[in-house]
Amino acid sequence: MKKILIIGAGQSGLQTGIGLVKAGFDVTIVTNRTAEEVEKGRISSSQYMFDMALQNERDLGIEFWGDDENLQGHSVGLAVANPENPSETAINWVGNLTSGKAIGLSIDQRVKFPRWMKEFEKLGGNLIIHDADVQYIDKLSADYDLTIVAAGKGDIVRMFERDDEKCMYDKPMRALGLTYVTGMKPNKNPGVRFNLIPTVGEYFVFPALTTTGYCEIMVFEGVPGGPMDCWGDVKTPEEHLAKSKWIVETFAPWEAHRIKDIQLTDDNGILAGRFPPTVRKPVATLPSGRKVLGIADVVVVNDPITGQGSNNASKCSKIYLDSIIANKDKEYDETWMQKTFDEYWKYAELVTLWTNTLLGPPPPYVLNVLGAAGQIPSLADTIADNFSDPTKFFPWWLDEEKANNLIKEKAQVS
Ligand SMILES: Cc1cc2nc3c(=O)[nH]c(=O)nc-3n(C[C@H](O)[C@H](O)[C@H](O)COP(=O)(O)OP(=O)(O)OC[C@H]3O[C@@H](n4cnc5c(N)ncnc54)[C@H](O)[C@@H]3O)c2cc1C
Repeated sequence: MKKILIIGAGQSGLQTGIGLVKAGFDVTIVTNRTAEEVEKGRISSSQYMFDMALQNERDLGIEFWGDDENLQGHSVGLAVANPENPSETAINWVGNLTSGKAIGLSIDQRVKFPRWMKEFEKLGGNLIIHDADVQYIDKLSADYDLTIVAAGKGDIVRMFERDDEKCMYDKPMRALGLTYVTGMKPNKNPGVRFNLIPTVGEYFVFPALTTTGYCEIMVFEGVPGGPMDCWGDVKTPEEHLAKSKWIVETFAPWEAHRIKDIQLTDDNGILAGRFPPTVRKPVATLPSGRKVLGIADVVVVNDPITGQGSNNASKCSKIYLDSIIANKDKEYDETWMQKTFDEYWKYAELVTLWTNTLLGPPPPYVLNVLGAAGQIPSLADTIADNFSDPTKFFPWWLDEEKANNLIKEKAQVS
């Protein structure tokens, strides 16, 4: 039986670990926080996931929450502020999710990861709580056939070299804020609302499950140096909530009627920070010369503007899992590691490109498509559905003629 070591018990580490245990591997996950510490700790994400990624969880029997109708999102809505009169929207539509089970879902990682940690152990996985550094990984990895680093954005990922050729940016492109709240007026169409405020930033909002029950998650993406890059002087949870309200009332006033009575879910239901979107080389060398393979955010970390990180982690995990199983009678050498990542990159390259282009101003022909979706429901549905598989935004995302043809084609069927 092959022995696999995974560093990090997040979306990709646990999903892969559970998949491997179920496939008969001997798996150890080392992670730096106990289930209780994760549950009682600070939020780390807004973790909205779409059908294709959720299906990977369903296939492993670990999508425990999606049958709850209060949590299910069935749509993606887009509003764009009118540059002539920023208190109004120039674009405002809702598209329905239609592919697969047509569900979107956000389960607080403080709920999901502890539940998955228990499941992993129940299935026979070995869980070690330790803050792993390079020396520790090097020592431990001697006993394993394969070591995967699934440490997300942890410091340890610096052991993987940045791949300059695959990176579009070298600095953070948004100042991020997260606020988990109760008391928000529900949306008529359950799902994600994306609000784009040109030159200022973005505000997304959707229902979720947190440690205290149902909530709504507010996600703020401020253009650096702009008015939504505003978390520096916020010191307390109360100030964080007040700042969140101020952003919505000031820059997305069409959403303000929903937030009058909001309260924080808990004092840890807030986050502010920033990081540069980065692609890293997938194989790192330990001091002993042994090789380790990076997965998910360790190798490809996108800005949350398109809500794809957990979705990517699930898809990366699925590709790695299949590749590990297919190779179980051979060695997991560097060539296999690179090939496994390359398989993921075939998918992740387009998602990364789509996400990175949205961090700059969209070209007029893309805005045309987004605007036309307000009049053409099947176009709105297509855009909504593409969040599950963003490779479907291509080739028209980069091609004006194809973008115009898409509008014509959808206008005929609507
Ligand atoms: C503000 C914000 C909003 C987001 N919103 C969304 C969204 O709506 N939709 C979406 O799909 N994605 C979203 N994401 C991204 C998503 O959360 C991540 O991409 C995803 O969790 C990555 O999965 P992962 O397995 O790579 O890492 P993680 O899930 O982060 O797991 C990493 C694990 O490694 C552990 N670890 C770290 N260092 C060590 C160490 N040295 N030793 C041992 N263990 C270690 C950590 O404790 C953690 O358990 C968002 C991210 C941010 C910051």
